[in-house]
Order: sequence, then structure tokens, then C-alpha cells
Amino acid sequence: MIFDELGLDPRILEAVKSSGYTEPTPIQAQAIPAVISGRDVTGIAQTGTGKTAAFVLPMLHKLSQGRAKARMPRTLILEPTRELAAQVAENFEKYGANQKLNMALLIGGVSFGDQDRKINAGVDVLIATPGRLMDHFDRGKLLLTGVQMLVIDEADRMLDMGFIPDIERICGMLPKTRQTLLFSATMPPEITKLAKQFQKDPERIEVTRPAQTAETITQHVTKSPSDKDEVKRAVLRAIINSCDVKNGIVFCNRKREVDIVAKSLNKHGFDAAPIHGDLPQSYRTQTLDRFRNGELTLLVASDVAARGLDIPDVGHVFCYGPPPNSDDYVHRIGRTGRAGRKGESFTIVSPRDQKLWDSVIKRIGQDVENFWNDDIAAEVENASSRPERRPRKNDDLKQKRGRGRTRDESRSREETQRDEPHKEEPRQEEQAGSEEQTPQKSRSAKSQPRSRGDSDNRKPRRSSKRDDDQGMAFVGMGEHVPAFLQREVEIPDLSKDD
Ligand code: ADP
Ligand code: MG
Repeated sequence: MIFDELGLDPRILEAVKSSGYTEPTPIQAQAIPAVISGRDVTGIAQTGTGKTAAFVLPMLHKLSQGRAKARMPRTLILEPTRELAAQVAENFEKYGANQKLNMALLIGGVSFGDQDRKINAGVDVLIATPGRLMDHFDRGKLLLTGVQMLVIDEADRMLDMGFIPDIERICGMLPKTRQTLLFSATMPPEITKLAKQFQKDPERIEVTRPAQTAETITQHVTKSPSDKDEVKRAVLRAIINSCDVKNGIVFCNRKREVDIVAKSLNKHGFDAAPIHGDLPQSYRTQTLDRFRNGELTLLVASDVAARGLDIPDVGHVFCYGPPPNSDDYVHRIGRTGRAGRKGESFTIVSPRDQKLWDSVIKRIGQDVENFWNDDIAAEVENASSRPERRPRKNDDLKQKRGRGRTRDESRSREETQRDEPHKEEPRQEEQAGSEEQTPQKSRSAKSQPRSRGDSDNRKPRRSSKRDDDQGMAFVGMGEHVPAFLQREVEIPDLSKDD
């Protein structure tokens, strides 16, 4: 199949050609004609299968006729995160280069004024995260009655992040006659329900994912003899040193781990930077850009931060522990070995990780080669023989911050998180970080309009109620935690001792 057979406007075909694509991906080949014919579409295909162009191209085609009116966008694309929204905007600009269409991107971290001006001028396409869209709507600056096509993209991630009620509310504000497209990598029951509720006789297009990992990827596992973080970090360094790494991603299971591992790698002379939902938007964008441009060698990431991001093929993937959800393993190592190129993956498994690793092996249905050499052995020996770190003055302070929780409570909670974080963690991870990821609880359909402003320009929010792994919970104080208790306190650098 070639693009010319899909019935797209010649100007779009021209733009597709200039971007170097010759053949539509399977989801594109099936979705594009269905969307052009006016049908609702439910598209299910794995991350990286080209779902964006599957809706952007037919949308551009349909927009080639007609004009936008002030404050009344003609189409609306909902994305769960700012990065993804920005990525779709790039796609729109690329494929729409030969058409005169206006686009507005409504995401946090950008002033309302600029976005208002764009909307006022009339836009053909509005790309938004649910939170920011509702803020604009609540300010009365936006009319959604002219929207002819709605795209709910990355629907399973919307669910993970608690956006379903927002989407329901947004759908209620759109004309009933619109066309509705929904794209998702997986189809949990909640998404099926959403599709039933808001789509009319949709054409369901499902591209089955490859059950196994690509053959171009050589997978390795290194068994760390100890659960100690110092030892695991030493193993990681030794593995990286044993490879010829051009660029690579180090996946960690938790935000705090991402920070510590990145810091530790830097301290040992590696070129690494962290990315997760708690970091300021500007930093995340800059880090990703540097990684894409080849200016940064190692990206240390959480699964949630990396999922759905269009990061070019990398040579190496390192898993600092197997992921709690074995599907994520396939996604992680799928970041390498794309398009027939060779890639390598290394997973560090400590005794505590063995159960998770067993389920990964079961999931991929193949054995993974053990990786061990003298350098790793030496690093392990070195790290293991180092004396336990004695508590320092500041550690005392840190313990006080976690008041109300005994050591055992903390430990058992951490273990619960380790064992089954795959449902909960994405929520914490993303919600804690940025504005369009505000927990749903506070945003029921009936809640009062409440602008969250440009809160993400500030430092990452620290909620007094947050009970994460950084000891910030204030137990027993209800909603009313005195301000002095919530003050930021210097935290000692935990990676210093290795
Ligand atoms: P998804 O939304 O399914 O995760 P994306 O739309 O982000 O996937 O696309 C993943 C990658 O595939 C992008 O780098 C995109 O440029 C590329 N791509 C999309 N369509 C094609 C195509 N027809 N041929 C080659 N590459 C494509
Ligand atoms: Mg996508």
C-alpha cells in the first residue's frame, strides 16, 4: 500500500513525501479512509505504530474545506501530557505545511494571553490537555459548539492519569453531530465504556502488537548479588562501561530512583540527565531536546515519563531493576533495535527483583542471556565492602519530616509499592508533576471554575497530603498542616557515598 491510494488531498501527500514516508503503517492504512468517509474510529495499536498521522492526515484533509470563526475551533485533539500535545502540534505543522490552517496549542506553562489571542483569531485545530482546555472554557474565552471532529488520543494514559471525568465533561460541551476518534495502545474496560458512550457506531481498528520483543535486540540480564542500592549502581556503571554506548536510556521504577541514579552517574563522570513527572516542564523539554539532538548520552527515565514519547532509536536500554509491569519491559526494550537496527538491553536483577524478573521471562517467552565480567565483579566487590553509611546530622532532619510514620510502616509501604505499583504509580508520578495532571477528585463536573494558572512555572508542587517515597507525609493533621511544617528543607545528597 502507498499513501497515494488513501484518498488524501495532494497537498498533504506532498508534505508526507517531504517527510520521507513512503508507506502508511497498518493503523494509518485502515484508519485514514474510514475517517475521510466520516465514520467514528476506535484505533488500537501499540506505541510507536504511527497513530498520530492516522488522525492528523485525514483531519487535515477534512479541514481543507471551510474556514475557522473567532473563538470557535473546528477540531479538537485531546492529549494527556504537554509533551505529547507538543509532539502532535509538530506533526500538524509538518503535514499541514502546504495548507493555510491555524493551530493553537493549549498546554500549561504557556501564558493564557498568547493562547487567548490565537483562539480569538480563529483556529482550525485546537490541541489541548484536558486541564488547560477546561481552564480556558471556564474563563469564557472559548466556544466548543463549532467542533466537528474530536480526537481522544492516548486514551489509556488519560485513564491512568484520572482524566476520564474531564473528558466526559468536554464531550458534553461539543455538538452531538461531531465525528469522534479514539486512539489507544490498550483497551481497558473503562475506555471501552468511554467509546460506547461518546462514539456512534465506530469502526474498530485493531493492530495486534507483536507479542514478542524484536529479534534485532540482544537482551542481557545481570544478577546483582545484593539489594543494596550502592551495589546496584556499581553494577550499572560497570555494565555501561562494558558497552560502547552512543546513546541509551536508563529506566528506573520510581521518580526518586531516577534522580538518585542520574546524580550518581554524573558524579562518576557519565553524561546523564533525569526525566520524570516531578521535574519542571522547561527542564524536561530541554533534556529531551538535548537527548534527541545527540547532546546527551544517557537519559534516566521513569516508564511513565518515557511512554508515548517519540524518542529516536537508541543503541542501549538499561533497566535498573525489572519493571513491576512486564508489558513495560517490552516497551522499555522496544526503545532500541527499531527499523532493523541492532540494539542491546541490560536488566539488573537483585534478589528482591527475582519475582518480577520471572514474570518478565514468562511474558516474553524466551530466555535472556546472563551478562557478567571481571569489571562487574570488581565493582560489586568494591561497593559491597564499603562500610555502611553512618547517619549524618541532616538525616535526623529527614526522619523528622516523615514524622508519624514508624520505620516499619515506611518499609512495609515501600514494599507494597514495589510489589504492585503498576496501577498506582503512574498516577502519582504524573499528577505530582504538572498542572494538567491534577487529580480528578478536585475536578468533578460540578466543581467551580478554578484556574490553576501557570502553576507549573513554579517549582514542582509539594502537596502536604502527598505520601510518596520522599517522606513528605504529615499524618494526623487532616487538611490543616501549618505552613512551617511544609517548608522545603535541604535534603542530604543520598548518592554521595558511592
Ligand atoms: P504512536 O502514537 O502510535 O505511539 P507516533 O504517531 O508517535 O506513534 O509515531 C511513531 C514514529 O513513527 C514517529 O517517529 C513517526 O514519525 C513515525 N512514523 C509515523 N508514520 C510513519 C510512516 N508511515 N512511515 C515511517 N515512519 C512513520
Ligand atoms: Mg501517540
